[in-house]
Amino acid sequence: MAKPAKLTGTVEIAIMEQLSQQAAAWLIGITPRALRDQDAPRRPDGCYDARSLTEWATSRITQVKLTDGELEKLLTVVDSMSGLLTPAMLSDLDELHSKHGVSGWLAFLVTFIEESKADIARYPDATRPKAQEDIDLAVAECHERMENSIASDALKVATVCEDCGKLRRGRKWVVEDPPADHCVAEWVCPRCEKKRAKAEKKQTEKH
Ligand SMILES: [Zn+2]
Repeated sequence: MAKPAKLTGTVEIAIMEQLSQQAAAWLIGITPRALRDQDAPRRPDGCYDARSLTEWATSRITQVKLTDGELEKLLTVVDSMSGLLTPAMLSDLDELHSKHGVSGWLAFLVTFIEESKADIARYPDATRPKAQEDIDLAVAECHERMENSIASDALKVATVCEDCGKLRRGRKWVVEDPPADHCVAEWVCPRCEKKRAKAEKKQTEKH
């Protein structure tokens, strides 16, 4: 492909004075459809003038009127964040606002969104949307861990195999109920441990 001829400034300006809808949308970072649906300034011939367009886009930052659907999405995000900003942080943000106007807050938002995206890229598992059953499972595991930990904090603890229900007594595991005044901590007895390992091996051999 031949190298494009270098444009003079005058030619560049002439091009920017009559942008297509596609180029105009690209310039301000929205979709052509979104641009068409809004009251962006247009020339009589239907083209967009880059300068009026960017002025319009800049002024729009403070004027944007969200639909109920958009506002609802925004409120969901805000709800999950509320309480995260301390009075000290808010006062730092206010300081940015008094120095740079709305652009100061905007800088916070852009940084926040960019950092959030970077976090998601770094820890995709932690931020992947979860199904309700996955959440229930995680909560149940958490609950069990907590219960075990509280049980082991208690003075009297009886250790019971979670597979066969046997009670540990020293080196032995016996068929006996744990004493009534003891908390139960779950463990796996050596026999069940072996059984588990065998089953696991079988499972992996199958695949
Ligand atoms: Zn057991």
